[in-house]
Amino acid sequence: MNFVSTRGGGEPVSFSEAFAQGLAPDGGLFVPENLPLLPTDLIIDDSMPYPVLAWDFLSLFATDHDNDDLMALVDNSYGDFSDTMSAPLQQLAFNVFALELFHGPTLAFKDFGLQLVGNLFEEQIKRTGEPINVLGATSGDTGSAAIHGLAGIEGVNVFILYPEGRISKLQERQMTCTGEKNIFPIPIKGTFDDAQKIVKELMGDLETKEKLKLSAINSINIARVLAQSIYYVHAFMQLNSDDRDNVNFIVPTGNFGNIFAGWMVHQMGLPVDRFTVATNQNDILFRLFNTGEYKLEGVEPSFAPSMDIEVASNFERFLYYHNEKDADRTVSQMAKLKKEGKLKISNFTKSNFQATRCTDEEILVNIKKAKEDYDYIVDPHTACAISGIDPDKTNIILATAHPAKFPDVIKKAIGVEPTEESLEALKKKKMKKYPVEATPKAIQEFIEKNAV
Ligand SMILES: *Cc1c(COP(=O)(O)O)cnc(C)c1O
Repeated sequence: MNFVSTRGGGEPVSFSEAFAQGLAPDGGLFVPENLPLLPTDLIIDDSMPYPVLAWDFLSLFATDHDNDDLMALVDNSYGDFSDTMSAPLQQLAFNVFALELFHGPTLAFKDFGLQLVGNLFEEQIKRTGEPINVLGATSGDTGSAAIHGLAGIEGVNVFILYPEGRISKLQERQMTCTGEKNIFPIPIKGTFDDAQKIVKELMGDLETKEKLKLSAINSINIARVLAQSIYYVHAFMQLNSDDRDNVNFIVPTGNFGNIFAGWMVHQMGLPVDRFTVATNQNDILFRLFNTGEYKLEGVEPSFAPSMDIEVASNFERFLYYHNEKDADRTVSQMAKLKKEGKLKISNFTKSNFQATRCTDEEILVNIKKAKEDYDYIVDPHTACAISGIDPDKTNIILATAHPAKFPDVIKKAIGVEPTEESLEALKKKKMKKYPVEATPKAIQEFIEKNAV
């Protein structure tokens, strides 16, 4: 399978090449040249272990890997998840399920993508003999997952920008307490979007990218998206056949990566009735799916910080497919958005998406409601998804993080502070971080000084 840019530039490239490049050279995002149909046995066989499912799925795309390499890759990526199911489906009520995606090493769904990415980088360094500098921006969970996936690996230094004071204390500890010399967490003044913009700028400048041997870990990397598609199939497999007709996946959404991964497997034949985009008060995607207009209005910090995002990178992938793979049209729309800060998209509200939004107040109400109605504690991101439950459907809420990552908000809502062993251990460790001025130039200089 080859991968092409959403902006139509360059030649089609292999999976490993698309992975290595991250952002396409023309500034677009890589997408598979076509979306193959899911083999039907993938959906029917509910006894398939997660790594086997992952192997089957990825073998449709990573066709430049042989079977043994691919199996080793998925085994290394998902072998140490604490729950042997990796992504267990918990029934909360007769038609409400939670797909728990927080059993990986950093307790959020980002581990699914980034464990695989860590192993792909390791493989790439072995193959090419070239060291790399990984650069990313995080709203909290991506950074910790990437750092966990890459800590201590020979030939990689990791630079992660995050908005100072806008991520949870435990998320910051997960990034800054590794004690590994190849990890550089960089707090910057500003928002996640400011951080992401710097990353995009450095990555988009081919000369700098080449010179600094930069590689991306943001969800602009197609490998992450593909890794996330797998658990949608896994969720579906765990449903009884009577529950499969009318499935509503409700997805806490920020960068549109997770939900796009689900939509992609739907295009490949997974029979899903609806995708519900669940946003916090930063509701650009909620407004988009209700009005057809994508309009930037600024970001306010919320109780669900990993969704405090305005420019959803993966949205470009979705737009490309919405345009029926018309790259020229996608280019002009992205240019218009950049210039005018808004974009009207025709026929948008007809798609099988719905959207809900939650203010901070509603996040607290939903955490309380989940505790009372289901005796289940949801984290503040997952709490946004509670608003998308439809009594006439089989609802699958994506539980994107462990509640113990956000103890303050949970305490505010229900008076108890959830804990988790690995997070408790972090509280005793020393933090190490590297504040740098929030400009591309300053970040570039810092990387030059500390590159592998
Ligand atoms: C990253 C994140 C999200 C948002 O996911 P996107 O792929 O950016 O839409 C939601 N919840 C949690 C806990 C996250 O870490």
